[in-house]
Amino acid sequence: MLVEVALPVPVPRTFTYRVEGGAEAGTRVLVPFGPRRLIGWVVGPGAEGTALDRVKPVTRILDDAPSVPPDLLRLCRWIADYYVAPLGQVLRTALPAVLSDTARPDPPVRTHRILKIVRELPSLRQRDEIFGRAQRQRACYEFLESIGGSAEVAHLLERAGFSRPVLQGLVDKGLAVFTEAVVERDPFSTVEPPPRQTFTLTPAQRAAVEALVGAARRGGGVGVGGSFGVGSGSGTGTGGGATFLLRGVTGSGKTLVYIELLEEVVGRQGRGAIVLVPEISLTPQTVARFRAHFGDAVAVLHSALSDGERYDAWRALRRGDRRIAVGARSAVFAPIADLGAIIVDEEHEATYKQSEAPRYHAREVAIIRARLAGAVCVLGSATPSLESWENARTGKYRLLELPERVAGRPLPPVRIVDLRGAGHRAAGAVGGAGAGAGAGSGTGTGTGTGTGTGAGAGAGAGTGSGGGGRPILAEPLVEAIRDRLAKGEQTILLLNRRGYATFVQCRDCGAVWHCRQCNVSLTYHRARRRLVCHYCFHEEPPPVTCDHCGSGDLSFRGAGTEQVERTVIETFPTARVARMDVDTTSGKWSHHEILGRVERGEVDILLGTQMIAKGLDFPGVTLVGVINADVGINLPDFRASERTFQLLTQVAGRAGRGPKGGEVVIQTALPGHYAIRAVVAHDFEAFAERELEERRGPRYPPHLRLANVIVSGTVEEAVQEAVEAAASWVRGLIAAGEAPGVEVTGPAPCPIDRIRGRWRWHFLLRAEQAGPLGRALRQLLVRHPLRPGRADLRLAIDRDPVALL
Ligand code: ADP
Ligand code: ZN
Ligand code: ZN
Repeated sequence: MLVEVALPVPVPRTFTYRVEGGAEAGTRVLVPFGPRRLIGWVVGPGAEGTALDRVKPVTRILDDAPSVPPDLLRLCRWIADYYVAPLGQVLRTALPAVLSDTARPDPPVRTHRILKIVRELPSLRQRDEIFGRAQRQRACYEFLESIGGSAEVAHLLERAGFSRPVLQGLVDKGLAVFTEAVVERDPFSTVEPPPRQTFTLTPAQRAAVEALVGAARRGGGVGVGGSFGVGSGSGTGTGGGATFLLRGVTGSGKTLVYIELLEEVVGRQGRGAIVLVPEISLTPQTVARFRAHFGDAVAVLHSALSDGERYDAWRALRRGDRRIAVGARSAVFAPIADLGAIIVDEEHEATYKQSEAPRYHAREVAIIRARLAGAVCVLGSATPSLESWENARTGKYRLLELPERVAGRPLPPVRIVDLRGAGHRAAGAVGGAGAGAGAGSGTGTGTGTGTGTGAGAGAGAGTGSGGGGRPILAEPLVEAIRDRLAKGEQTILLLNRRGYATFVQCRDCGAVWHCRQCNVSLTYHRARRRLVCHYCFHEEPPPVTCDHCGSGDLSFRGAGTEQVERTVIETFPTARVARMDVDTTSGKWSHHEILGRVERGEVDILLGTQMIAKGLDFPGVTLVGVINADVGINLPDFRASERTFQLLTQVAGRAGRGPKGGEVVIQTALPGHYAIRAVVAHDFEAFAERELEERRGPRYPPHLRLANVIVSGTVEEAVQEAVEAAASWVRGLIAAGEAPGVEVTGPAPCPIDRIRGRWRWHFLLRAEQAGPLGRALRQLLVRHPLRPGRADLRLAIDRDPVALL
């Protein structure tokens, strides 16, 4: 019998194989593919009319029962269609890595050695006789008894402190035996969940819970079949009622609303649920709250899990031993049967978009999956994406609001410190006069990316200020921190830029040090004494003299977190300071460790990048300071203002969550910018209104559908030629009437026009409707040859991009 097999290769099609007796869709198979062997998934019966003699047989069937349940397969098909990605690649992304490991087609199931009592000793006299003076053996035997008759050998040796001879002694006496048992690896089982809190719901929380529970009881909305259809979907399609946008200001108690919904769906209805968080190591408290409420029903799909642990968690969910999956982006694929709810916390976060193929957005996938399953989908945020906001305003999603913080606590007042003001008495002024950096992104492409501007703009450097003698900590912020230290309260400081100096510049000729592989400036890391590229990780020693003019007058400009840390320590020598950014969190559990210290009050000042802005809930934090609000605001990307607004609002929301209240101090050179003004006023709606206007000319989402097509390669002329050919191919498609309503903008070099030695050009496709846009993209991928003979050229399609850099 012939079957179609999806393989994880970058080719937009499936492949036909022969298999004795057939195989169900969703079954894993090992197949020959050219000189290689690959693991793929049977996705359906083979194409009619394929010549039997040319079809190869599958090497082996790897699953007894299909590893991909039908609903997941259907979801993956939708993703493959919508995001224009090969189905095999989507399946590989959706399933645990061990399932597509060709080197080990049969994923190892880990067994553990167990010591198990085989003979009971009911009387004390018997025990005295048998053990005599072997008191450790007796202790071990009684320990085993006390924990149910068996224990893992490793546990007995490492935790309980018995020696090997003691264990062997029990075996020799015929009291116990060694056996093997399959063990689930769950690193969280050893972490005590925090005590469960009980609160009376606020009226706003109650209203939200009632709406959600009501929908869950009605079966979530349209259910299977509904309006679902390839190309018309992406959550903004028609129908529904199953998708809710929960807009609640920071500290309004959104987590409790999620928990109450799960009490209904999982607790009372016995169904399953998925909770998505932007990054699990940054939201330990949210995760802990779910564990406190639902205990063993929860599987935490932590990014620090080994592949084996991940696979264990996956199997526990697949068997129904655990009903709630909590995890980042890929948890949207958790194998949960009878799904009742999907929660997308902080739905605006860019981490929900995968940056390589398949470039799916977990929020959109969640909406589709919920719709297919008849589940309730809740998108929660204090600063919703404009896409979700627009869908809520037009009634495609139902809007639920928590307009106030719990317990009558006010949102913290926000104070602006204008960095342009001269004469700030300040700590740690960044040296160096002179004009703004030559590496600036200053072409002002902003919302005009793709229209032919932006060539060579070195995003990443000079996009913030930091130079020009501006203070790191201006006097008002220094005062505010000093006050907190005196009172024993905590401070959070944000600077969304790591390293010591974002770029090095020659004061005489203005040259800026760039990466040789990427068109971005190199960041100076002081502790390591290296210049580092944040895109390709290239490193080199810092320069002593200028390569161009030989001058020794170099300035290290654009402060990063490392420099802020130094300034803070110099200014407040007795304060306990912790820094959290990519450079301090390389260990598997290091986030956990830093946040634990903050929670226990062992840290006075926590400073870091956007990592510290997420869901942290520390009542002792009464001050939040933003070192430079303007980092990122001028990036040549249409979402730059939105991101700035979201980041600042989120970090501001860390202040004043306890009874002592709190305040926010924002240092900026752009106090008049609408994003910053909206943060000061805590006014999301004002921001959204203005931003929606900004995105009308040229038009950007949510006013229309967008796709970014990027061509890259090592030879710039070849890239340019290929991207021009691809763009005109699409223009031809439009002229032929095959892509109604689709418009092409560009091509142009990407704002960062070289990464890892590859030149990058792009063009944009805009359309009113998702359907024709999707069809045009699929045609482009399948029918347009990318310039034969140039093997290193690549074409990437990014649908609903979250950034255009
Ligand atoms: P958000 O996610 O909306 O920022 P959280 O869910 O983190 O807010 O809740 C903020 C704090 O308020 C948490 O410490 C939580 O335990 C507490 N909380 C939530 N609901 C209530 C309530 N009804 N009464 C009192 N405290 C509450
Ligand atoms: Zn020079
Ligand atoms: Zn580089």
